[in-house]
Amino acid sequence: MRYFLFCILYFFSTLFISAQIFDVEIIKDNPGDIDKRINLVILSEGYQASELTKFKTDAESLVNDMFSQSPFAEYSDYFNVHIIKVPSNESGADHPGTATDVTEPKTPVETKDTYFNATFDAFNYHRYLFYGIDYTDAAPAEAKIRSVLADNFPTYDQALILVNTNIYGGIGGEFPMASISSNEIAIHELGHSLFNLKDEYFLSDAVYYSEAINMTQETDPNLVKWKNWINENGISIYPYGATGVSATWYKPQDGDKCKMEKLDQPFCSVCKEGIIEKIHSLVSPIESYTPVSNTVSNPSFPIDFHLNLIKPIPNSLESSWTLNAVNFATNVDDVNILETDLNTGINNLTVVVTDNTTLLKVDNHETIHVYMVTWTIDNSSLGVKAIESDINNLKLIMYPNPANTIANFKIESERDARLKVDIISLDGKRVKTVPISNYITQQVDISNLSEGIYIVNFYANKVLVASKKLVKL
Ligand SMILES: [Zn+2]
Repeated sequence: MRYFLFCILYFFSTLFISAQIFDVEIIKDNPGDIDKRINLVILSEGYQASELTKFKTDAESLVNDMFSQSPFAEYSDYFNVHIIKVPSNESGADHPGTATDVTEPKTPVETKDTYFNATFDAFNYHRYLFYGIDYTDAAPAEAKIRSVLADNFPTYDQALILVNTNIYGGIGGEFPMASISSNEIAIHELGHSLFNLKDEYFLSDAVYYSEAINMTQETDPNLVKWKNWINENGISIYPYGATGVSATWYKPQDGDKCKMEKLDQPFCSVCKEGIIEKIHSLVSPIESYTPVSNTVSNPSFPIDFHLNLIKPIPNSLESSWTLNAVNFATNVDDVNILETDLNTGINNLTVVVTDNTTLLKVDNHETIHVYMVTWTIDNSSLGVKAIESDINNLKLIMYPNPANTIANFKIESERDARLKVDIISLDGKRVKTVPISNYITQQVDISNLSEGIYIVNFYANKVLVASKKLVKL
């Protein structure tokens, strides 16, 4: 028993010794459930304990800059930002003077005792500011970053390390780092880390190229992933370089006009769209709804059904309410159901929410995010017996578009649902109806359809959840 007690005490003592608890403060707060936001966490590096107030000011300045820019300004309410105040023994970051891309020492050679070991000259590039000179050197600091996050803010979506130096530098990766020389560095690095964007400036052939939101080897303007943006806002297909590997890879914007190419520029339309798609994949615009299952007993008419939405600024959400597969209301957050609206027996009230922002080429974008709430209302001659609710997030994917012989449809639904796609000709005739299994790409032969425009209607449990235009060549 005593040995057992010793073991328990030893366990707790190691727990308390290893856990590093720091001050955590929220600097961008949205009312509502913290789990229903993208949680950005900023950690301090190279700030002494006496400088942590300055760290908070620096982080607030970054957040103000970030959320004054599109598309973060429009989707500001989808984010919370916390800071973790980690003190260092000394201020600043290491500069060993070992970079090979500049004539060193570009800035004074110095060594600083800092918590996460930030250093310039990482991977031999002077402006690469990282928590180690290479990946091997970075391993202990990376373990520290993970444990600080686990001990202080385990539910983060993205962490960023802000380094207390005015020398220009930063790097992307899982835990991006940025100096305070410019807030733009941090925003650019977040473009890499949280939104999977690539650089759009010239990249040497030694750099790893790959297909990404804003990087491709496709040169056909009808097939390129940003085809819907071609010739709009300067978007086209531009090579990274003139010769070698870099000449075989392409980007959507040129002439220093995207933040992924040059700081102090806005994100290009393709990068903005990629950021918003990621926001939608992380956060449902339906924060909550009422009534929820098992909270309603003996409701009296009219019954109020309410959505609590996280609205972009300006609001680009559209909502469509359906009662028993008949359109009931559009673009309202509340509906009232009267006794006369209901059939005897089971009734289904569904609301479908989509984001119709012009920053997304929704009409023929490859993927549409659809959010829906369904209430099952059990109505008897004596009144409503029960209301059950369910929420479902769906992704609708259709490609290629235009299509010639085969069109591919895929529905990814969080909940089991009966899924169906109807193809409708412009004169209103249903020319094909295709049942679709969840998560399975359905190839549909459209070679016998005549050329022209068709409307594709996506249904989940008999409710129309989206309509897309399909061009048949
Ligand atoms: Zn871009």
